[in-house]
Amino acid sequence: MSENHERILEAKHVTKKYSAPGGRTLTANSDINLCMYRGRTLGVVGESGCGKSTFMRMVLSLEEPTEGEILYRGKNITKLKGEKLRQHRQNIQMVFQDPSEAFNPKMKIMDIVCEPLLNFKRIKQSEKEQAARRLLEMVELPGDFAYRYPHNMSGGQRQRVGIARALALEPEIIICDEATSALDVSVQKTIIELLVRLQREKNIAYGFICHDIALVQSLAHQVAVMYLGNIVEILPGERIGAGSLHPYTRGLMGAIFDLKMDFSKPIESIEGEVPSPLDMPEGCPFQNRCRQCMEICRKEKPLLRTVSEDHQVACHLYGEGRQI
Ligand code: SF4
Repeated sequence: MSENHERILEAKHVTKKYSAPGGRTLTANSDINLCMYRGRTLGVVGESGCGKSTFMRMVLSLEEPTEGEILYRGKNITKLKGEKLRQHRQNIQMVFQDPSEAFNPKMKIMDIVCEPLLNFKRIKQSEKEQAARRLLEMVELPGDFAYRYPHNMSGGQRQRVGIARALALEPEIIICDEATSALDVSVQKTIIELLVRLQREKNIAYGFICHDIALVQSLAHQVAVMYLGNIVEILPGERIGAGSLHPYTRGLMGAIFDLKMDFSKPIESIEGEVPSPLDMPEGCPFQNRCRQCMEICRKEKPLLRTVSEDHQVACHLYGEGRQI
């Protein structure tokens, strides 16, 4: 992404490993380098278990990287503890996939959206109703919903409450973890439109975790495609359709039915199973599912290589000296 945008978060060589039974190690994230920019959306896509949620949990300081660091406005946040960590949490908030699970069903909407403001003493109890109405109106809900309970609302309305709560502390970054996956397509569209409007008005950076590459394509300024804990391609969302290079990204795209598809070309798809992250193959992590696998792919892990401005790919097909 162009340096014209203000960089607010940077992950540098972030690796996350977990100990597994039998003295083995599960590598959930391997040497991740990514940046987030003010007012821009970073989409992270990949099949379930690819490590996208683990990465965002580290961005949210819910987990610590095993190696590497995450910088927020140039400051390393990976080792923050106690009150410093609590204060930092105001900068990065989250919208969950299923807000009904995230909310206490016994709390009124007013209490749900104002809880962060009261926790950080941004408002007094007497200012709660006014603050709740303001936040609800920001997400296009009537102010009177402040007196409702979560079970008196639809899924889309609850997700708007989740967004209002995330906005309460005016964070610079909001992580949306499959934030629209549980909603009907028509409701999903209105929530996306709301997120886009709020981003334009408030210059928020979104980290959008999603398994739906078509959705990310339309929303994200920058997309990181993850496979088995590795980033295999980074490119602008608008270029995924025609400009992606990695066989895995192209396979994900091939699974999408598009009216503008060129039906004279064979549809690419992905066969086979993702190997266990406990049994990472030597060389390219995608080798057992890749139709273009070469000898070198079984020996050497391809590194992310810049192929053009805003576009990096990790594949030996595009290694040094090869034609792109
Ligand atoms: Fe396929 Fe080789 Fe590229 Fe991996 S490095 S995606 S196996 S061609």
